[in-house]
Amino acid sequence: MTHTGKDTTVVIVGGGVAGLALGNFLLRKGIGCVVLEKHSREYVEQRQRAGNLDADGVRRLHEWGLAEVVEGHRHGASDAGVPLLIEGEERQWRMGGADDSDDVDGAFCPQQILVRNLIRVFLRDGGDLRFGAEDVSPHDIDTDNPLVRYRDTTGAVRTITCDFVAGSDGFRGVSRTAIPAGVLTSSTHEFGYAWLTVMTEVPADPPAVLAVHSRGFAAQITRGPHASRLYLQCPLTDTIDQWPDDRVWNELEARFGRPAPRKGPTTSKQVVPLRGVVFSPMSYGRLYLLGDAAHLISPSSAQGMSLALHDADAFARAVVHRVAQHDSSLLDSYSETCLDHTWRHQASAVRITEAIHDAGDPSYEGEFRRQIARKELETMLEPLPAHRP
Ligand SMILES: Cc1cc2nc3c(=O)[nH]c(=O)nc-3n(C[C@H](O)[C@H](O)[C@H](O)COP(=O)(O)OP(=O)(O)OC[C@H]3O[C@@H](n4cnc5c(N)ncnc54)[C@H](O)[C@@H]3O)c2cc1C
Repeated sequence: MTHTGKDTTVVIVGGGVAGLALGNFLLRKGIGCVVLEKHSREYVEQRQRAGNLDADGVRRLHEWGLAEVVEGHRHGASDAGVPLLIEGEERQWRMGGADDSDDVDGAFCPQQILVRNLIRVFLRDGGDLRFGAEDVSPHDIDTDNPLVRYRDTTGAVRTITCDFVAGSDGFRGVSRTAIPAGVLTSSTHEFGYAWLTVMTEVPADPPAVLAVHSRGFAAQITRGPHASRLYLQCPLTDTIDQWPDDRVWNELEARFGRPAPRKGPTTSKQVVPLRGVVFSPMSYGRLYLLGDAAHLISPSSAQGMSLALHDADAFARAVVHRVAQHDSSLLDSYSETCLDHTWRHQASAVRITEAIHDAGDPSYEGEFRRQIARKELETMLEPLPAHRP
């Protein structure tokens, strides 16, 4: 470990994908860090969220020697495509983000499994991860001696001095609020519709099917061998009470244009507005924002975890460079580097989100937009086999 005269080099606020990846990256380079997570280990290891990690995210884990955390979940979707039903007719959607490389596949890895694996590896390798950390608050972030206070599980107030604070506590975390008012700008794009997302104890076979239909977008995506998540585009004003299980399955079948091979109990429902948000800059003094703490990307692009891994990678490299070379240049350019990457992905997320939603139900964006979106969508699909006379 490094010795900088502080309790540790980096305090990482939040043990989600961004924070745990960062902790593992730093640990591999012998940089001291402490991860403070608000919830219990049991809670974060079963919290269901995303399910698809793109090839760029998988490649980053490989580069840091962490291939084991997605082992067994890789898919060949970047090669094979994913079935996309347009008014019931099957086409193949080419998956692939703005930076997807062709040397690795993405992974259908439920987020809670990725989190569980990152925790296991971090603790196995000697990492310091403190669950149940309440009232976490970064202080003196505009000085060379920042510190983080929190209340531990016994109720005692603890202070950790450090060189840097990584704010990776998600969209509703506290790190961002430690930055003085007026420093950050926030840019938001609302798509004007929501997703009803439903967890169900029914496996998805194949692992992902998407549907563009005049009733709206729909999808069923695997969450492991015994579960899947259903997605139905719906108005922002819908509530889960309007969506009893029967209606969910009937609507899925209508939008797929075919019967569901299996139906079963649902375990949770949520209405999630589709939006993109970016906060700028992504650093202030010695505080650096990572992942959802700095940006939200439309979930239909399935790039949120990958963006979180990008930020963790960029910040870890910057800290390693600073510690090894006494050179802050990568830390100084961290915000610019990550914002450039984020905006590139926001652009592709807007394109994907609008194509797969606007090409369906015209009551949201109108018939003109629907026709344009159909043409956009065509560029994202594998071409139809050439017609032979
Ligand atoms: C419906 C839906 C589907 C999605 N599907 C995909 C997908 O398929 N692929 C994809 O890549 N992304 C997807 N995403 C996005 C993805 O889930 C997020 O982008 C990702 O979780 C971001 O990781 P993070 O570590 O930045 O934040 P989080 O995962 O939110 O982690 C933040 C952590 O900080 C902790 N925390 C919060 N406040 C505090 C505090 N005060 N003190 C200490 N700890 C705190 C939290 O408990 C949490 O553990 C989806 C999102 C939604 C809503």
